[in-house]
Amino acid sequence: MSRSEILFNSAQKHIPGGVNSPVRAFRSVGGTPLFFKHAEGAYVIDEDDKRYVDYVGSWGPMILGHSHPEVLDAVRRQLEHGLSYGAPTAMETEMAERVCSLVPSMEMVRMVSSGTEATMSALRLARGYTGRDSIIKFEGCYHGHSDSLLVKAGSGALTQGVPSSAGVPADFARHTLTLPFNDLAAVEATLAEVGQQVACIIVEPVAGNMNCVPPAPGFLEGLRAQCDKHGVVLIFDEVMTGFRVALGGAQAHYGVTPDLSTFGKIVGGGMPVGCFGGKRAIMECIAPLGPVYQAGTLSGNPLAMAAGLTTLKLISRPGFHDELSDYTRTMLEGLRERAKAAGIPFVTTQVGGMFGLYFSEAEAISTFEDVMASDVERFRKFFHLMLEGGVYLAPSAFEAGFTSIVHGETELRLTLDAAERAFARLK
Ligand code: PMP
Repeated sequence: MSRSEILFNSAQKHIPGGVNSPVRAFRSVGGTPLFFKHAEGAYVIDEDDKRYVDYVGSWGPMILGHSHPEVLDAVRRQLEHGLSYGAPTAMETEMAERVCSLVPSMEMVRMVSSGTEATMSALRLARGYTGRDSIIKFEGCYHGHSDSLLVKAGSGALTQGVPSSAGVPADFARHTLTLPFNDLAAVEATLAEVGQQVACIIVEPVAGNMNCVPPAPGFLEGLRAQCDKHGVVLIFDEVMTGFRVALGGAQAHYGVTPDLSTFGKIVGGGMPVGCFGGKRAIMECIAPLGPVYQAGTLSGNPLAMAAGLTTLKLISRPGFHDELSDYTRTMLEGLRERAKAAGIPFVTTQVGGMFGLYFSEAEAISTFEDVMASDVERFRKFFHLMLEGGVYLAPSAFEAGFTSIVHGETELRLTLDAAERAFARLK
């Protein structure tokens, strides 16, 4: 038995499913999850001392690669001064200034400890600000696990929302309307009918939780116009895309300005951090200034701020995101060439340092149905063949992949060689 298998067996005794977050359990690809003990640069190292080129990057935060020396130093320096004060620090203001300068739609920002908290709080704020209860989200978009957001509707968009999880009261779910991603006509029709009840539209500007689906041309612009028309707050959930698809996030990349944004992952540089913010008039509704309550014992935690701030400084150097994007493009081109040579239908999507892989005959991927029509069984085999070849992809056909700035020539060669062997064996 491998060390990972032994560890997974013991983990299951006291941890549900042996994991502290479900996708880690490899349920969707089968097999035993790898247990890691070290990560450095573009690599993760498992308990059996096997090294893998990492395309998960802790699900997004590790854009600089793992264990970046400057980030570790900043955390070490803060460590000497204590772990948490539960009182304001200078670093929090520096963080707020940096976030607001990198993302101009952010006039004010509040730090929290996860992406889930960021989106949950942004929703409450939108509801408090507008005095409306309903929200619109899109099928296949994930915004963390707060009750209102764990909902996907059936086919009739205006039928009552149906919870995707046990434990979410139907009474709650009925305020969540779920529409097809990239379908502006559905948004227009819904708002024409019930616009007066809708507090906000929340969207992943690049959908990264159903693999990776970029917005159709005009979709985000259309959301902006519809929100303006109906007095609805537009929330971009940039937990995944923020500071990744461009320094200023998807809103900079596509040139569409939301009212509120949520961030996580990169903003904490690998520590548990999220934040939400946007228009001053809306943010001033948050306690202690206004009536919308939101708080956190460890919010703005000094160690987390040290890691996040250093990460944001390092990714602000000119050319950073172009390099990240170039590696990603070259790697995906290489994969497509090798799949083609092996006669395997294969499609990729990419926005900056974020990508999707599909075993599919489709020309392009732009809807939830396109994603669902891809060959998940083939992905499962590919995933395990790549693992064997020393490449760690997200253990699900419905998750985006991530590159880091330290993925270079060596990692490209390792990845494409592993893929060539994998495609040959998939036939
Ligand atoms: N929003 C998006 C777009 C996400 O991708 C995620 C997590 N992958 C979240 C929110 C929730 O963030 P967290 O897991 O930090 O709670």
